[in-house]
Amino acid sequence: MGRKLDLSGLTDDEAEHVLKVVQRDMKLRKKEEDRLREMKQELAEEGSRCSILSKQHRFNEHCCIRCCSPFTFLVNPKRPCLDCQYNICKTCRTYSKREKAWLCTHSIEIPHLTQPF
Ligand SMILES: [Zn+2]
Ligand SMILES: [Zn+2]
Repeated sequence: MGRKLDLSGLTDDEAEHVLKVVQRDMKLRKKEEDRLREMKQELAEEGSRCSILSKQHRFNEHCCIRCCSPFTFLVNPKRPCLDCQYNICKTCRTYSKREKAWLCTHSIEIPHLTQPF
């Protein structure tokens, strides 16, 4: 007895029925595999997004999110930006009198390389 599907002993109708069942089973299994793969991918993406965000927040407790310079009490105290909510250092923020809050200088990508004003 071989392990291959032997349809020779069946009538055409029976053979067709068996084939349909096998095909449906294969289709279902493939669907299930696709679904699992998608779920895994989503979980992986979600996980990496969360860990990047939490790392960023931990980092931002101690360092400026824009120029990465460490915050120091009095000398370079951290202030939250009203706009992006990140903590920013004194060189990366401007005080908005209108908003009565700090705002980071968004237009400046790399603050080190620009002239202080
Ligand atoms: Zn900064
Ligand atoms: Zn900001």
